[in-house]
Amino acid sequence: MLQCMPTIHAAVMPGPDQPIRFEEFPTPTLAPGAALLRTRYSEVCGTDVHLHHGRLAGVPYPIIPGHVSVGVIEALRGPVLDLEGQPFREGDLVTFLDVHETCNRCWYCLVAKATTRCPSRKVYGITYGAGDGLLGGWAEAIWMKPGVKMVRLPESLDPDTFIGGGCGLVTAVHATDLAGIRLGDTVAVLGAGPVGQSAVALAALSGAGEVIVVGDPADRLAFAARMGATLALSLDLAPENRLEAVRARTHGRGADVVIEASGNPHAVPQALDLVRDGGRVVVVGQYTDHGPVEINPHWQINRKQVEVRGCWGSDYSHFHRAVHLAARFGARVPWKDLAGRHYPLAEAGAALAAVERRDVLKAIIAVS
Ligand SMILES: [Zn+2]
Ligand SMILES: [Zn+2]
Repeated sequence: MLQCMPTIHAAVMPGPDQPIRFEEFPTPTLAPGAALLRTRYSEVCGTDVHLHHGRLAGVPYPIIPGHVSVGVIEALRGPVLDLEGQPFREGDLVTFLDVHETCNRCWYCLVAKATTRCPSRKVYGITYGAGDGLLGGWAEAIWMKPGVKMVRLPESLDPDTFIGGGCGLVTAVHATDLAGIRLGDTVAVLGAGPVGQSAVALAALSGAGEVIVVGDPADRLAFAARMGATLALSLDLAPENRLEAVRARTHGRGADVVIEASGNPHAVPQALDLVRDGGRVVVVGQYTDHGPVEINPHWQINRKQVEVRGCWGSDYSHFHRAVHLAARFGARVPWKDLAGRHYPLAEAGAALAAVERRDVLKAIIAVS
């Protein structure tokens, strides 16, 4: 039992470009409504690589990384209820929305209904500092502050499937909502990383007629075919050849919807080229600042009458549905295999390096 452990080990990212180190943390005292999870899995994704390079503003280094995680409730100062009013219990296998402290009383929360832009919002593993406590997943235990929204994993959901989808799946649910895919649409997904892979799967589940993935390397494109892509276009093709290929598939018109999930700013003008007149582009891949690119607003937006939607982060509705989508479709969609390799907590630095080198689509920190 963790309560018997005087200290809990966690991997700490001290600052940009500094090696991961390990520190001991005291077991937190639980206020009413708080809980402590014994971590089973946390993940290493592209955002962690960007955090390690200092590319995200407002990060209070040192931090304990790891935003989406799975764990078992080790201790609970209840009652803490789920959305259906059922109490959480010690021993429950849960995940939790990494976004916390959305205030529900500011202009963005109440008037714009854009809670992902709430200025009070904090994110486990990203905008909480290690000085705030065990608020990241790369640790033996994670402190659920009062009000953190836990979700019990349904019995039909293999935790490997959920963590394989992880934050990429949650983000892709948000992007798919914004994409507004109609049955039979041709959807192009730019980027074959974790968000792109889940966007491919969700476009297919949404009834897209064609799902075209654009990315590299070849093994990621092959994986996208398993996720539901009907055509893969390599970045080895020049942008104009990719455009030609998409037009050839759509009677010269272009894709109805393009989801940019690549992280490369040059994918945005490409998305505006690939979309048909009157189509829609969702920009979800530019979570960190990789600089400006040139677009021609006349040809690429105005005259084409393109609708462009930005997609930042996720809220509880995306998270909740991601858990239940993974449970419902996990046998059909190989989210589980997105996780390239499991690493023990002590090798968190190696896991981060593997994701940075793109050896794996994503790495899992397997803690217990
Ligand atoms: Zn707010
Ligand atoms: Zn992530």
